[in-house]
Amino acid sequence: MLVKKLAARDIGVSGVTKAMLGNSLFANTLISAGVKGLADSRVENLQAMRQAGVKAPMTLIRSPMISQAAQIVKSAHISLNTELDTIAELSEAASAQNCVHGVLLMVELGDLREGIMPADLEDMVRKTLRFQNIKLEGIGTNLACQNGVVPDARNMGELSALADAIDATFNAKLQIISGGNSANLTWALGDEAKGRINNLRLGEAILLGCEPLYRQPLDELFTDAFVLFAEVIECKIKPSHPTGAIAQTAFASTKTARNSGLIHQTTLALGQMDTDPTGLSPVRNIKILGSSSDHMVLDTLNEDFPIGSEAAFHLNYSALIHAMASPFVTKQYRSNNIATKRRAH
Ligand SMILES: *Cc1c(COP(=O)(O)O)cnc(C)c1O
Repeated sequence: MLVKKLAARDIGVSGVTKAMLGNSLFANTLISAGVKGLADSRVENLQAMRQAGVKAPMTLIRSPMISQAAQIVKSAHISLNTELDTIAELSEAASAQNCVHGVLLMVELGDLREGIMPADLEDMVRKTLRFQNIKLEGIGTNLACQNGVVPDARNMGELSALADAIDATFNAKLQIISGGNSANLTWALGDEAKGRINNLRLGEAILLGCEPLYRQPLDELFTDAFVLFAEVIECKIKPSHPTGAIAQTAFASTKTARNSGLIHQTTLALGQMDTDPTGLSPVRNIKILGSSSDHMVLDTLNEDFPIGSEAAFHLNYSALIHAMASPFVTKQYRSNNIATKRRAH
């Protein structure tokens, strides 16, 4: 849906695979959905996709570590860059591997994460163009990640204007003008002119079906594609209020538990080692009381959860990426809705 809607605005999609750790099933699904290429923040994930035989243009979207320059040139066609020292190392590595590495220069447009200050862009372009084994593919920006800056007509217009200025100064034609991530969708699908922006790098919107500025569902996308199941390891009637003097918990915060008499306290084999517990929403009407490294404690609202049964949760982006990265969480991919298939609370 996103590929189709954005194509109508001449914007191509780079499918961002980092939350899925470069899983090839997901990557190939994106390719068959018509993305222009795949993008990941970790070279290890790009390598995994290549080893699994995934065929697509690949972009490294976190500024390269110089220590990984050789691997990056080998696995990524393009990387997003802001530092000349890094580009120099990529050029060296590309020369050693007898290839040309593509570079997209990232511009700082207010969110204050990665990016060259706009006033320094022309100089940076001039110096980038001097490297034999580097091809300047275009420019890009990233908003809404560090300070929640909203992509809008002003900052997107500035990126377009910078592309025009670079083309005029260097008698060039920058190919890729990458406007940002899922947070750009509201702007990109809106009515204003898109200027030179012809690429977005999309992860969260594809996976969770929402835009990340206000986390509103996007038309025609699924918001419940992921379910996390956790197994019940204890279920007992216990007081709702702790006994004894109270200090810090395993994760520093101390919350005052409300005294609501006796409750059905149910403990799951799930904790901070597995996910971000604050990003979980129970599918059923139960209450999360707290979590530590390996345990999550629930108030199951007067219901007995049998030992060995499972509770089901939907995940926000933070819970999702932590669960996907945890070696303790088993991943299963299904083409139908498992929440209804699997017997879980
Ligand atoms: C993670 C990331 C994206 C994708 O962001 P989503 O919000 O998941 O769409 C795009 N660009 C960069 C630089 C990223 O690090």
